[in-house]
Amino acid sequence: MNKEMILQRQVAGMGKEQIQASLFNHLIYSNSKYPLTATTRDWFQAMAHAVRDRLVDRWTETMQSYYEQDAKRIYYLSMEFLVGRTLSNAMLNLEIDEQCKAALNDLGQQFEAIAETEADAALGNGGLGRLAACFLDSMATLDLPCYGYGIRYEYGMFRQSIENGAQVEHPDNWLRYGNPWEFPRPELLYPVKFHGRVVEYKEDDGASHHHWVDTVDVMAMAYDTPVPGYGGKTVNNMRLWAAKSSRDFELKYFNQGNYIQAVADKNESENLSKVLYPDDSTEMGRELRLKQQFFCVSASLQDILHRFRKHHEDWQQLPDKVAIQLNDTHPSIAVAEMMRLLVDIHHLPWDEAWGLTTRIFSYTNHTLMPEALETWPVPTFENLLPRHLQIIYEINHRFLHTVMHLFPGDGELLRRLSIIDETGERRVRMSHLAIVGSHAVNGVAALHTELMKRTIFADFHRITPNKIVNMTNGITPRRWLHQANPGLSKLISARIGKAWLIDLDQLHKLRELVGDSGFRQQFHAVKRANKERLAGIIRKQQGIEIDPDSMFDIQIKRIHEYKRQLLNVLHVVTLYNRIRAEADADMVPRTVIIAGKAAPGYAMAKLIIRLINDVAETINNDYLIGNKLKLVFIPNYDVSHAEIIVPAADLSEQISTAGTEASGTGNMKLALNGALTIGTLDGANIEIREEVGAENFFLFGLTIEDAEALHRAGYDPAACYRNHAELRRVLDMIAGGYFCADEPTRYQAVVDALLKHGDRFLLLADYESYVDCQDRVAQLYRDPAEWTKRAILNVAGMGKFSSDRTIREYAQHIWHVSPIVPR
Ligand SMILES: *Cc1c(COP(=O)(O)O)cnc(C)c1O
Repeated sequence: MNKEMILQRQVAGMGKEQIQASLFNHLIYSNSKYPLTATTRDWFQAMAHAVRDRLVDRWTETMQSYYEQDAKRIYYLSMEFLVGRTLSNAMLNLEIDEQCKAALNDLGQQFEAIAETEADAALGNGGLGRLAACFLDSMATLDLPCYGYGIRYEYGMFRQSIENGAQVEHPDNWLRYGNPWEFPRPELLYPVKFHGRVVEYKEDDGASHHHWVDTVDVMAMAYDTPVPGYGGKTVNNMRLWAAKSSRDFELKYFNQGNYIQAVADKNESENLSKVLYPDDSTEMGRELRLKQQFFCVSASLQDILHRFRKHHEDWQQLPDKVAIQLNDTHPSIAVAEMMRLLVDIHHLPWDEAWGLTTRIFSYTNHTLMPEALETWPVPTFENLLPRHLQIIYEINHRFLHTVMHLFPGDGELLRRLSIIDETGERRVRMSHLAIVGSHAVNGVAALHTELMKRTIFADFHRITPNKIVNMTNGITPRRWLHQANPGLSKLISARIGKAWLIDLDQLHKLRELVGDSGFRQQFHAVKRANKERLAGIIRKQQGIEIDPDSMFDIQIKRIHEYKRQLLNVLHVVTLYNRIRAEADADMVPRTVIIAGKAAPGYAMAKLIIRLINDVAETINNDYLIGNKLKLVFIPNYDVSHAEIIVPAADLSEQISTAGTEASGTGNMKLALNGALTIGTLDGANIEIREEVGAENFFLFGLTIEDAEALHRAGYDPAACYRNHAELRRVLDMIAGGYFCADEPTRYQAVVDALLKHGDRFLLLADYESYVDCQDRVAQLYRDPAEWTKRAILNVAGMGKFSSDRTIREYAQHIWHVSPIVPR
């Protein structure tokens, strides 16, 4: 088949009739069903295949133009891609949603019911993985030649259920009914080596080389998924690797006649890509995790170099054709693996290879919290990746040598900068490897980047003052407004046109409409409809009746002490006490909604979930409280839940301790959908407040400087307890078993963490400021016109937080890539 034939092939049409024909054909020929026998899932499969055909046409064209134009590619390496569902998103990005829905309607099918049968691709924990998914959407929309590289976990993020108030984890078997969006590439297979030993030998020219031998090999097989940009011109590729046992490995046993052992071992090596580690913002330090990281990296780099070598002889061109972004330190072993491939396999001199490597890599830091920074014990490394440990030692030796010349005599500085932590058990500091091996290191919000320079990476900032840069996070407005909130999307487009979809700054035009009472009413009506929809789902799934006229006060994110869901609970119990003290007081009715998963091994986070559910049980069943206050914990928070909850929010809780949340992106989703934020000066909250205006943002709490001063003066949480009667009452109730009569000491540990163990995240220091601020929130909610006005001004000010803006900054300042528009 030649190029002309490819160009002239039958391309799938975008009209309703053509889509309907395609849908019908797939139902019959891909699913072997007729409308009479088809289940909702069959209809989903058929629709997905019909849409997929349209993606494939543009995907082929995109890949063809990258190839023809010899484009510089961006490789986004990430252990997580939290994509969610694809059908709606693909239809909207191809702008064929109306045709598709009409085609289904004619056949007597409801699109919403069909779309809901799709399983979320939950190949990520939270913000970091969702950021990767938003970035892929933006890069395709901006026609940037990007490949996402990650792992095809067979089991993604666990499903959370609540039993007797407590979190229970269930496996996420998301591939059970097949995945219509992925294309297995059994021919695209790379060996990934582990264990073994290193032999050094001399070439004839006297040069020394290294062989990594006697390794245990696992094969990485590619699965490709199309990633359509908005407007559908560019369709990029997300390539995920699955572990397959290597043939050699099996043969050894088969030849010995040990068939059963061979098949059992095959399973063991395929376990490598079985399951996502469900730990967010803490490192697990398990060997299987390091194996997953190297597996992902090694397969991706082999693939990247293979693509480069098809067209290039000259290694010097590598950085002109390849930019690799490391999403956190998780894939940072790539620095050593690239050096191994260039030096050991392709025999480049070390200095040359190092020059290329550092021009290719850049690294994104996502957290300042010490417990999240990855380090691996040297013996673990030596056993699993012996050659990489040698290479890291060599990188470190040369790096420290340069530093020594710059700052002679400063032994302490060398110890602090070293890639090897020599205090106690020797460990490899993955962040140091990532920084040394990259030409750019970025934080994800202005404050976070400043803190990187001032605290954890201050020494690196001193020796390379231009390396650390800021790239404030963003979210894709296609999924988080257009798709999740069709009512608001239509209202906005009706007033300012559709250009905001690719130029989110256009939202500023909404500022002129705040004085238009007709627009305000429509805006309010959209919010109200979204709240009714959420109330309906909560009624159906949990049997809890909530009032759509009450203020929907929402905190949705991973459960973590630093995110302070517990502070939210302290406020809820405070309100509960106030209502009980004065039952006929004129209170603003409030529905507090919390959702999020706790890492299975994080006992305190799980205890907080249980407390939320116990408090909810008490409040929701107290006849004195009625509709004035409700507390709801929605189980199994994931992208699909976010898409329903976010558009229904009045108030967005972004209440992390100042200096702990690197950026946050949930804060952006909620404000973009017209929620007002109650928040601290932390992460991107600071920039959101600047953009939407301080008068449209409820600020409370200590600043980082306040917190530092407090610690210097000697923080005494017990003094807060003694000095504040309402707080004292709340803590006494929780500690005394008020919400858990069956086991009165259940929450002793929660209260002890605050009163006896130092209250690390300053909940008690911020309590009064938070509760006072919530009183101001309630006051404003009494004035619906004013509230709506400020909600509109929030939407209008969110242009900056499009991930399109973030990606443009990366492309210009870090990757040096330009758009390639397919024919
Ligand atoms: C956006 C998102 C997050 C991140 O939320 P934060 O409030 O920034 O922590 C986590 N999980 C899901 C499912 C999301 O969509």
